[in-house]
Amino acid sequence: MSEVKSVHFKNLIEGEWRESSTGEVFEDRNPADTRDIFAWFPQSNREDARAAIDAAKDSEMKWQTITPPQRGRILFRAAEMLEGEKENLARLFTREEGKILAESRAEIGRGIDILRFFAGEGHRLNGEVISSEDPGIVLYTEREPLGLVSIITPWNFPVAIPAWKIAPALVCGNTVVFKPASATPLVGLKLVEALKNAGVPDGVLNFITGSGSTIGMELIQNKKINGISFTGSYHVGQKISESCAQSEEMPRLQLEMGGKNPLVILSDADLAKAVEVTVRGAFGGTGQACTATSRVIVEEPVAEKYTSLLLDRTRRMKIGNGLDETNEMGPAVSEVELKKDLDYVEIGRREGAQLLYGGKRLHGPQYDHGYFMEPTVFGSVNRTMRIAKEEIFGPVLGILAAKNFEHALELANDAEYGLAASICTNSLERAHVFARNIQAGVVKVNRPTTGILVQAPFGGMKKSSSMTFKEQGKVAVDFYTFTKTVYMGIT
Ligand code: NAP
Ligand code: MG
Repeated sequence: MSEVKSVHFKNLIEGEWRESSTGEVFEDRNPADTRDIFAWFPQSNREDARAAIDAAKDSEMKWQTITPPQRGRILFRAAEMLEGEKENLARLFTREEGKILAESRAEIGRGIDILRFFAGEGHRLNGEVISSEDPGIVLYTEREPLGLVSIITPWNFPVAIPAWKIAPALVCGNTVVFKPASATPLVGLKLVEALKNAGVPDGVLNFITGSGSTIGMELIQNKKINGISFTGSYHVGQKISESCAQSEEMPRLQLEMGGKNPLVILSDADLAKAVEVTVRGAFGGTGQACTATSRVIVEEPVAEKYTSLLLDRTRRMKIGNGLDETNEMGPAVSEVELKKDLDYVEIGRREGAQLLYGGKRLHGPQYDHGYFMEPTVFGSVNRTMRIAKEEIFGPVLGILAAKNFEHALELANDAEYGLAASICTNSLERAHVFARNIQAGVVKVNRPTTGILVQAPFGGMKKSSSMTFKEQGKVAVDFYTFTKTVYMGIT
């Protein structure tokens, strides 16, 4: 079962690996087999968080004297180090988060690509020269780092999300305190270790574990913080936003939050393809993606045929430990998440939706020690039901019927969230109308709602995002830099 012995990991503060000041720890367990406790992490308190913040503040000058291309070279080196360990890391990742090995490998690969992409941005951290009516003035802008940035991340993409925040933060010259989600600290730590070993100076990147409501709050409220980049639930994001609004310092804020992502299927779609798009979007990562497909909105003439093809495919899905490469879907990340998913199944039933497939916790020798449930499909869902409105962070999909394209678009937009959306159609015209009118930060055509590329901007609208700054792509540096305008009088 265990490939490595259980290890006690530490916080990284001022370049030193340190226990929490109380010596308390919490465990890191395999959600596919909870007998497998493979790591322990510091249960830090606010005092530890303050030590990390102080270290980061005191390191600002040192980091800013290193040029952006030199900082970029450090990121390149970290990418090379992770590349060499890719397979081991992917296995560790699956053990910690539960997603299947193919998905863990893909995410580690993406984390590496993110480091390389932002390493390159070190050569492109440009301002601009602006024309001026005064011939005696050279007018230009420069990008300066914000200073100290807090980075707080969720458990579902425990490498990619930390990487897409830490890499631009560092290359732009900021110092960082990073708090990973308590369910998945280990893979985040591996990213930090690689950056430290690649040459990020002591104190520039600090890593601290512990509960969001204690150390997370210090990382929000401490007066030394200049920027906060958070990805997680709307509920926590809202608390952070309220807290920042009340602070005198008003740190720059970036919040990326939940989703209730629709997939529209029109009568002219290739239904076999639409089913693959659905299954990947809804059940990939056990449905635990912010961009996961959660509502299918299908045009009535093809609803019956599509549903029957979808159920055939869903029935054939192989569920189990992600380390077995034949499995297509792993467990929920924790008992709490599994319970929430199963509670939503009950809510859907009570609301009158028709449970077409799944809905149960899985039992048997390969399941009894993990948090496994069946992929679940509800039919006869209507827009007023909670299962059609609230984010269910698990493999639970609801099907709504639409009279026509216009009705489908209206249903798709009838959500408080606006992260990702997709349409399956062979009509170029409808694809364009959908792309233009759907309220979502990411729009796909004939592709799953999940899956994004590092070089393209990412972020939601409505309750999915603070809509302040985009992440990823070259625009990601906008959040991590401040633009200074210089009027240089020369004559
Ligand atoms: P979460 O419960 O909101 O936690 C996110 C992070 O915030 C964790 O590190 C958590 O620490 C910390 N935290 C909790 N309470 C806090 C507080 N009061 N102050 C400061 N930090 C606090 O979210 P999750 O369950 O980890 O992740 C799932 C959610 O993330 C879903 O809603 C999903 O849609 C969203 N998500 C969004 C995106 C996107 O890009 N839009 C991407 C991925 C996920 P602990 O772990 O210690 O509680
Ligand atoms: Mg949580």
